[in-house]
Amino acid sequence: MKYIIVTGGVMSGLGKGITTASVGRNLKNKGYKVTAIKIDPYINIDAGTMSPYQHGEVYVLKDGGEVDLDLGNYERFLDTELTRDHNLTTGKIYQTVIDKERKGEYLGKTVQIIPHITNEIKGRIRRIAAKSGADVCLIEVGGTVGDIESMPFLEAVRQMYREEAPENIAFLHVTLVPIDSQGDQKTKPTQHSVKELRELGLTPHVIVARCKKALTESTRSKIALFCDVPVEAVISAHDSADIYEVPLQLENEGLSNFLLKKLLLESKLEVEDTS
Ligand code: ADP
Repeated sequence: MKYIIVTGGVMSGLGKGITTASVGRNLKNKGYKVTAIKIDPYINIDAGTMSPYQHGEVYVLKDGGEVDLDLGNYERFLDTELTRDHNLTTGKIYQTVIDKERKGEYLGKTVQIIPHITNEIKGRIRRIAAKSGADVCLIEVGGTVGDIESMPFLEAVRQMYREEAPENIAFLHVTLVPIDSQGDQKTKPTQHSVKELRELGLTPHVIVARCKKALTESTRSKIALFCDVPVEAVISAHDSADIYEVPLQLENEGLSNFLLKKLLLESKLEVEDTS
């Protein structure tokens, strides 16, 4: 199983969901079977009880699961059907761990965030990914890096990176490149959010920069240098008039080819290209 883990920096509502769905679409177009998991670090069990004024509309899955709107994007972009298990929340994870504790399944141990909560997170991710039969599982970690609620999830994916072969996991970080009053693109928020990610032991392989206009070559090189990624791993995700154009935009930036190279999935492509 190959995993692509999508994190977000600087602020929420940047476009992690659209980026995740678009990456999935592009990999699907190249012949891979793709599934997606959304992690929502809030303590609610699901989005069903949350005010639409705060959270936006609740998306209802075929199995009745009440989930974040991003799962709707995944279903539409990937042309697939997901289940409630594809949405992990802190509430669901803690509920399972506390139920197990009450049943004595931890055999008298002190139940802790590491390893019990993190093991539950990793176990669920691996089970859902395996059950889907996909080649690639996209995992979007909701919220912004540095939020206290998302810490156990980021720690769990850090552990997964240690446990899996390096070619099985790619980290993609979505960040913001604002413009100053002179109209210049500023990379400092991106640098800081990558620094924050590194403090948690995670190093992004790809930076997807959300910006008003396409990244300039000098902004690209600066992000590459300061965030320690190759220039081709800095992806310009400038505002698009239509979200359904985002997959095309990311494809033109070479994102899916870069990910396939990182995940050593190119061979399947070459075989298909020559057939
Ligand atoms: P997040 O998952 O980070 O909270 P979403 O994927 O839900 O963010 O996107 C937030 C908003 O930004 C949505 O309204 C979406 O349509 C818009 N958006 C995302 N990516 C782009 C893009 N490349 N161009 C224009 N709008 C975008």
